[in-house]
Amino acid sequence: MIKHWINGKEVASDSTFENINPATGEVICQVASGSETEINAAVEAAKTAFPKWAKTPAKERARLMRNLGELIDKNVPKLAELETLDTGLPIHQTRNVLIPRASHNFNFFAEVCTRMNGHSYPVDDKMLNYTLYQPIGVCALISPWNVPFMTATWKTAPCLALGNTAVLKMSELSPLTANELGRLALEAGIPEGVLNVVQGYGSTAGHALVTHNDIRAISFTGGTATGKNILKHAGLKKYSMELGGKSPVLIFDDADLERALDAALFTIFSLNGERCTAGSRIFIQESVYDEFVKEFAARAKRLIVGDPQDFNTQVGSMITRQHYEKVTGYIRIGMEEGANLVAGGLERPQHLPAHLQKGNFIQPTVFADVDNRMRIAQEEIFGPVVCLMKFKDETEALQLANDVEYGLASYIWTQDITKALRLADGIESGMVFINSQNIRDLRQPFGGIKASGVGREGGEYSFEVFTEIKNVCISM
Ligand code: NAD
Repeated sequence: MIKHWINGKEVASDSTFENINPATGEVICQVASGSETEINAAVEAAKTAFPKWAKTPAKERARLMRNLGELIDKNVPKLAELETLDTGLPIHQTRNVLIPRASHNFNFFAEVCTRMNGHSYPVDDKMLNYTLYQPIGVCALISPWNVPFMTATWKTAPCLALGNTAVLKMSELSPLTANELGRLALEAGIPEGVLNVVQGYGSTAGHALVTHNDIRAISFTGGTATGKNILKHAGLKKYSMELGGKSPVLIFDDADLERALDAALFTIFSLNGERCTAGSRIFIQESVYDEFVKEFAARAKRLIVGDPQDFNTQVGSMITRQHYEKVTGYIRIGMEEGANLVAGGLERPQHLPAHLQKGNFIQPTVFADVDNRMRIAQEEIFGPVVCLMKFKDETEALQLANDVEYGLASYIWTQDITKALRLADGIESGMVFINSQNIRDLRQPFGGIKASGVGREGGEYSFEVFTEIKNVCISM
């Protein structure tokens, strides 16, 4: 049974729900279903712990963050196995990338919190203004299920390192590794009440948390509709919203096609396609379109779909049966809309062993000759499904890339760097990658524009949500 971590103790709830293995359909465990009672207790614990934690010297907070990073490093195999069991993400991705990234998050923000410098603004010889970054109080950290441990630590690390206390609410679909985080934080020496981890549904536990009067800031990652709903109910609180995406990949005829193919394949099919920055709309210049489509489809067909716990697996299982139905529903829509299915489709992947027959597996699916106004090109599918489209020139490429409600990431492939920089300037997304797949530097501002979110996190940009800036003016 997975319980909550409140004030340093494991706490149960009156009701529970089942956590299901997405690869087999079997029940993994029961999970405590948080209600207003547990949320209130968690916020109260965080509020009580705040004054002392906020006054703990940054060096000491940094030491505890590093302790936690070290414990995560020691537990990588176990955490990766749990993450894969919970989410269906391939083990080679959880083990080699996602879980190790969690310990980087703590080590990185341990460093950042010792360098929280403000600014000074002298006014002739009459006055001096200076600014202070101060912790804000109790923060609500809300995480989705797609890369749960990485996202939970991406929020917890800056929140705690900068002197705040937290109530972390995990997605009801991926409770296992956050539960371990609650345990490891205490083992690392982080005082009781500083990090509280609650489990439960969004409409109950999540709603009670974001509407709580003692919550000062909300760091939310999840769907755009949920983000809008939270903003409607949260009242006056600081927030950052990391929301959905439908990111374009522009491939020009002068690009290094070999590298572009590799990166485009990775950008859509890694993490089962369940990634916010997925390059799910690929626009290809007409002179190389046929060649690109043929090769891309061939490579997609070669990807190994199978047991998420097998190190050879490249694409695992969708998180739930409901999400599987959503993604296959979009494959059906694409066929009805008249897109040309060149790889994958509705047929279940071949050669799945008996114990995986009830798993949520989908073949990597490629639609070519898509019209950008089709639903499959406009709506976030959040699975291994990609749209390939043709463009004539730079002007049309930019127009098509921006013709979507989202604006999280974009990818540009060309050897003409001046053209790439012009496009980077005009493209409507929070992050642009030129001749590169999605590479994460923890100092960079991470986030999107339009329906992809509000605010940025990462490096000093995390100060925006996790600190209050105070101006002090001295008359001389
Ligand atoms: P979701 O919006 O359904 O849920 C996210 C979290 O919000 C969960 O913990 C859920 O329980 C909680 N929640 C739901 N309703 C709530 C409410 N009314 N009040 C408070 N909390 C509530 O999203 P999901 O299906 O878990 O995740 C997939 C989505 O997340 C995709 O749209 C994806 O693009 C997005 N995402 C964005 C980023 C980013 O950085 N921009 C990263 C990862 C995922």
